[in-house]
Amino acid sequence: MLDRAEPSLPDPHERSHGPRPILGALLRGAALKCPACGIGSMFRRYLKVANDCAHCGEPLHHHRADDAPAYFTIAIVGHIVVGLVLAVEMAYHPPLWLHAALWLPLTVILALLLLPSVKGTIVALQWALFMHGFSPDAEEEAGLAGGDEPRPRRLDFRP
Ligand SMILES: [Zn+2]
Repeated sequence: MLDRAEPSLPDPHERSHGPRPILGALLRGAALKCPACGIGSMFRRYLKVANDCAHCGEPLHHHRADDAPAYFTIAIVGHIVVGLVLAVEMAYHPPLWLHAALWLPLTVILALLLLPSVKGTIVALQWALFMHGFSPDAEEEAGLAGGDEPRPRRLDFRP
């Protein structure tokens, strides 16, 4: 009774060897969902990516989004707000205080609204392209699977 094998869950690393559709993954990431299944949530807090998908178990902690979501969000929000500022200025010539009252809150609100979707899209792109630890072979190469060999240190210039 005790040595009976438990039913095994699907291994997310097994599935990750197959092709990953990029467009579908990007849309799922933009919707803040897991790029693999599209059901589980990618984030466990506002911008904190969950370690694993709660629905399918796909590991999501391998992402290296770093500052890219902020850069892309600045570019998107900048194009929207600057276009609106120029259009309103050309059409109505409002006073500067009205410009500030309109565009400063709009800039902050747009940035806060877009940032999670942009980050979700970047994480999904990294997942779809097998970047960083999302490659099924990455953990084996880094020695994480066996755990016997220490990981090489960065900036180690010793011979
Ligand atoms: Zn999932």
